Amino acid sequence: MCPRFQAAYIRGVARLRPCIVVHYHEISLKAGNRPLFLRQLAKNLARATADLAPVRVVQRSGRIVLDLEANEKPEAVRDRIARVSGVANFALAYRVPSTPEAMKAVIARLIDGREFESFRIAARRAFKSYPMTSVELNRELGAFVLERARTRVDLERPALTITVEVMPDETFIYLDRQPGPGGLPVGSSGTVAALLSGGIDSPVAAWRMLKRGCRVVFVHFHSVPYLPATSQAKARALVDRLTEWQYHSRLFLVPFGEIQREVVLSVPPAARVVVYRRLMVRIAEAVAQAQGAMALTTGESLGQVASQTLENISRIDEVAAIPVLRPLIGMDKLEITAEARRLGTFDISIEPDLDCCTLFVPPHPATRLAADAVRAVEDRLDVARLVRAGVEGAACEAFDWPMAVTPGVGPPTEGRDAVRAAATGGASAERESRQGRTTGDPSQ
Ligand code: ATP
Ligand code: MG
Repeated sequence: MCPRFQAAYIRGVARLRPCIVVHYHEISLKAGNRPLFLRQLAKNLARATADLAPVRVVQRSGRIVLDLEANEKPEAVRDRIARVSGVANFALAYRVPSTPEAMKAVIARLIDGREFESFRIAARRAFKSYPMTSVELNRELGAFVLERARTRVDLERPALTITVEVMPDETFIYLDRQPGPGGLPVGSSGTVAALLSGGIDSPVAAWRMLKRGCRVVFVHFHSVPYLPATSQAKARALVDRLTEWQYHSRLFLVPFGEIQREVVLSVPPAARVVVYRRLMVRIAEAVAQAQGAMALTTGESLGQVASQTLENISRIDEVAAIPVLRPLIGMDKLEITAEARRLGTFDISIEPDLDCCTLFVPPHPATRLAADAVRAVEDRLDVARLVRAGVEGAACEAFDWPMAVTPGVGPPTEGRDAVRAAATGGASAERESRQGRTTGDPSQ
């Protein structure tokens, strides 16, 4: 191609056609039900970017592509994908016809004005009948880069990797591939109810379940008016953050202070923490079952505190009819804290407050309660009535991110957003759309 024509061609093709190429890993190991997982992943990708329209999600062989051709904020869309579980890695890519000339035009556009001391071309063909092999493509495109930039080839540790994915009808080219969270798409593994304190551990545990593809319903026990409402505010802030991973959440706020007061009247101090936990598990289980959740999850880690010894964990599990999952059981506090920081929950969790379980509890609770000892003290309580009081007193709040979507209606259009912004008044519009929180009917 003559240089003048090539420059014009580059400018033409360089009206870049952006898209995001999403690769998954674990889903590809699924055999028969892979389409179900993929459909869920595609749905979640659309939901995570619902306010950044237009984004068209298309399933292609071995990958999902987000078509951003008419989108004005491709980078903003890309940043959202980092929090969609099930994504192994992703990149902001450009699509071109599968000819070497078209590929070179986009590569030129991507590397011009960029300094990189070494590079490699990573060409892959998704179909083998393409007239050039990957090695031939690597060579031809590599030679083109060497002509245009002062750099060298380094196949082992390149400063820049130019990935070229050749599909039957087009090619994707990109520079910076980013790791996704991995795991499975939320909504593909059923629902769990997470016992969410305001502490560091339980939000991390809930996130681990999200990452394994569960939807999570949150249950928080508070002791208002015996303790201030800080723990509820923290629980809301934590759910708000975690909703970025599942787009819609419910938080059940269970009044526990009155229940604790009754426990204190008849249960000796050493046994109280375990009795509180057993009551929490029974109440959470009732909420879970009403919400279609098949398991509970907690932030317990073996041996971390008195209620988390094997003996006391057994006492807690004895009252549960559904599994109690403890995704952090083998982690130490430093590992959990590092994960909380990565997730952005740590700063919320360390805000000072008093957990309800610190109320009426001695400094040294029993670490090894026997089953019959706990049953004996519980016999003094009207357990069924206490559980009913907790369940009936629970208030439900709903959270949405990035915006509330009415089932069957789809994401709001720009027009509707504008109406909403006007109705809620400028600055508060962002918060409103980020967190469409409502209180009331848990069955909605
Ligand atoms: P966390 O950091 O999650 O609060 P922790 O190390 O403080 O955990 P505990 O206070 O013994 O440990 O709580 C163990 C688990 O019990 C928590 O991870 C959480 O799942 C549940 N839990 C404790 N307090 C509450 C609460 N007020 N509401 C809901 N769940 C709770
Ligand atoms: Mg705690």
